[in-house]
Amino acid sequence: MPFKKYKTEAERIEAHRAASRASYQKHYWKRRAARKARDQEFQAKKFNYKAGLECWNPECNFNGADNPKKLEFHHMNPDHKRFSPFKATTWAAFMKEVRKCVPLCKDCHISIEKWKHENGRANTHLEPTPF
Ligand SMILES: [Zn+2]
Repeated sequence: MPFKKYKTEAERIEAHRAASRASYQKHYWKRRAARKARDQEFQAKKFNYKAGLECWNPECNFNGADNPKKLEFHHMNPDHKRFSPFKATTWAAFMKEVRKCVPLCKDCHISIEKWKHENGRANTHLEPTPF
């Protein structure tokens, strides 16, 4: 970009802002499409990971490969929970959160949370599991 002399500092700042706005508008759709593709790819990677897991309830024979959407991560100690692993934006953050969890199918997850609620117990790792 050729050097351009501005009369005032305010004029220089305004020109810089206008150029930034123009650049943002020019590349908006391209960036948006790239971000969407990246997000979808990452989402697929997380679903593939879930497809390799199965429900930890020994009485349940749910396999993540049947329906990865039905496989959930249960935090053994809710104090350690920072966010739902599936909301992670990086693979490292996802795995860090997943290591605090056990995989459960949706039905078993609901039953264990219901059991905790009914028995007033916060930490499942300190108490016997309902199954
Ligand atoms: Zn299950």
